[in-house]
Amino acid sequence: MTQTAPAGIATDTMLRIDGVHKWLGHLHVLRGVDIQVRTGEIVCILGPSGSGKSTLLRCINHLDPVDGGVIEVNGERIGHELHGGQLYEQSERRVAKARQHIGMVFQHFNLFGHMTALDNVTYGPARILGRPRKDAVAHARQLLAKVGLAEKEGSYPSQLSGGQQQRVAIARALAMEPRLMMFDEPTSALDPELVGEVLQTMKQVAEEGMTMIVVTHEVGFAREVADRVVFMDQGRVLEDGPAREVLDNPQHERTAAFLRRVH
Ligand code: ADP
Ligand code: MG
Repeated sequence: MTQTAPAGIATDTMLRIDGVHKWLGHLHVLRGVDIQVRTGEIVCILGPSGSGKSTLLRCINHLDPVDGGVIEVNGERIGHELHGGQLYEQSERRVAKARQHIGMVFQHFNLFGHMTALDNVTYGPARILGRPRKDAVAHARQLLAKVGLAEKEGSYPSQLSGGQQQRVAIARALAMEPRLMMFDEPTSALDPELVGEVLQTMKQVAEEGMTMIVVTHEVGFAREVADRVVFMDQGRVLEDGPAREVLDNPQHERTAAFLRRVH
């Protein structure tokens, strides 16, 4: 389905998801998912509610362990692995290292409510990466300017609109200097008039060469910004191809039906 370099040869693959299975209780949520993302590529994941999109992102970010298959981020293997029929778990250190390369933006902005916008963006680099506070603050100011919120650095989340909060969340994720940014329906909780400014910020991040995985129902964004669209249904990848091909000429009736619904 996707072009794959032979195993063991250096590639520009940022993310390799290979035969991933995930159970939540009795529910087989991911049923053998294969996706590859090249460095610099923008991949939009579409699919009906309950198809496993959020679960997949959680597995990529190792918030949830997988029950089978392999996930590699920038060559770092995360998740469980079958070895001679035995599952073994990766060490905490390797997991933390792999996760550090991934920025995550959620539907609900998840900002620290008791911190200003500037402190939200500074916190990770200063406290987790151990950057000197002066450098972390200077970088945070650059990022807030980039997302159009230089004037709001002293504001608390409750003083910002949903769109502004989400842009702070994007700046906060970028501050960790991730190699991969993942967005889980970043505009679904926003009032319609605030969606555009967040999509515009994401487009700007994409244009700067970031590798991005975006779970979204915003077909217009997918058409304009994505290199590839992956359509998920019932825990499987139903389609995976160039954005326009999948959106304009879906191969499966379920994809077509979904696109008719969200248009
Ligand atoms: P999507 O993001 O595509 O809407 P999710 O990954 O959130 O889908 O959910 C996939 C399936 O897993 C759904 O049927 C959902 O009800 C179920 N699910 C999600 N989280 C849990 C959980 N913590 N425990 C049990 N089932 C869950
Ligand atoms: Mg979801």
